[in-house]
Amino acid sequence: MNIAFVSSEVVPFAKTGGLADVVEALPRELEKLGHNPIVFVPAYRQARRCGMPLEPTDMEVSVVVGSKVVPGRVLRSHLPQSRVPVFLIEQDSYFDRPQLYRENGSDYKDNCERFAFFCRGVMQALGAIGMPIDLLHCNDWQTGLLPAYLRIERAHLPFYNRMATLLTLHNMGYQGRFWHWDMLLTGLDWKYFNWHQMEFHGELNLLKTGIVFADAINTVSPQYAREIQNEPWGHGLEPVLRHRSDVLSGIINGVNYDTWDPRHDPLIPATYDETSWVAGKAKCKAALQHELGLSVQADSPLVGLVGRLAEQKGWDLVGALMERLASSRDVQWAILGTGEEHYHELLHRLSRRHPDRVSARLEFSDALAHRIEAGADMFVMASRYEPCGLNQLYSLRYGTVPIVHRTGGLADTITDATPENLAASRANGFSFGNYGIADLEETLMRACHMYVHEPAQWAQLVETGMRQDWSWAHSARRYVDLYSQILARKQP
Ligand code: ADP
Repeated sequence: MNIAFVSSEVVPFAKTGGLADVVEALPRELEKLGHNPIVFVPAYRQARRCGMPLEPTDMEVSVVVGSKVVPGRVLRSHLPQSRVPVFLIEQDSYFDRPQLYRENGSDYKDNCERFAFFCRGVMQALGAIGMPIDLLHCNDWQTGLLPAYLRIERAHLPFYNRMATLLTLHNMGYQGRFWHWDMLLTGLDWKYFNWHQMEFHGELNLLKTGIVFADAINTVSPQYAREIQNEPWGHGLEPVLRHRSDVLSGIINGVNYDTWDPRHDPLIPATYDETSWVAGKAKCKAALQHELGLSVQADSPLVGLVGRLAEQKGWDLVGALMERLASSRDVQWAILGTGEEHYHELLHRLSRRHPDRVSARLEFSDALAHRIEAGADMFVMASRYEPCGLNQLYSLRYGTVPIVHRTGGLADTITDATPENLAASRANGFSFGNYGIADLEETLMRACHMYVHEPAQWAQLVETGMRQDWSWAHSARRYVDLYSQILARKQP
């Protein structure tokens, strides 16, 4: 199959979150399976400085955006360690900026214009490249206009009329909502601005547009695909998603074990596997405690947390629990994250008050994220909702037992250490169903109790998690099946 990925992020060209990892890993796996993926991404300043070679091509685009005609060029590169071509749509006034979407706490005012240009630019570049594409794999709101452009403007043209579209929803919390006059920038007729298609509560909604016009939709875990059809997890779009439930499915993201595996991770102080983890993790833990200024105690449970400091990730709950436990219990916390200011203040305060038990590094550091995964005993993810989540999967491989809220991808990947699940050797972590501090505390205490008093059961949990395979090879095969189903419907 010839598959064109269109995304606003892809590693190493541009990244703010998990989307960028997916759009790097999945095309590479598809190439290994014998398919022909290509990738489109904007030529951001980040992309120009990422160190990959960017070659000019003779392809140019010329896009009508509102009352302007905006020219652009197409640059060419490839994904690292592969031959997958990456085409970058260049237009400096839109993309040569310090950040991708927002600066100083507010979104760029012309985001609708920027991504309308990107989508139309991709459509033109596809024609210029000339490779017959079977499936256009769109991602998130930034590419939501593409299925609409294809269906409304191009479906009668021979090059485009058999092209199918899939839209992957990475997070329903981000929808690309703009005031209604931005409809003019899309170049589509006002007749589409209605509540069945592009309009949502008086605004233009680009994610809704994609959901309505794509041939199929998927999310990054099966459980999240179910949850978003019910309030509040569709963030208002529940009825639209229910209407499309016959073509809505979920595929869990994979892990890149080339970079996330304690067997050969160069970023951690001692490598280890499922037979040597006791000694390996002890070294990593002592080094981490030392590095973070925590008291170096081998037997206090050390809890790791890494992630965006956003409401979605459950920091209210974790912060409240830490306040309660920090002065009374023998639990240590290693926290790494950046995001909203009030969480920075909360974590700063806790780490100042309990420097031997709480460390909060408020920065982005891939290397420290690896050292926390290796050095911590357990890893908390108390997300309110979680489309897939990657850190719990890294934790499994690093023998760091996940403690999670049973939602979305966390529910699909973590099996609670109940007596039955332990007896069946299925358990790989701890989970709680009700989002609340009492349940989180009870679950953390269950984990600490097992860690301290039942080392044999703890070892079983660690080793079950370490042996599991959540690699992209599995997930990519599921995508191939999904693509085949979509094409069979589109091209009978
Ligand atoms: P999301 O995409 O919602 O932010 P995921 O768990 O799917 O959450 O992926 C987040 C990725 O970003 C993970 O690889 C995580 O380790 C990484 N990450 C997030 N915050 C930081 C940070 N402050 N330092 C290093 N890595 C981080």
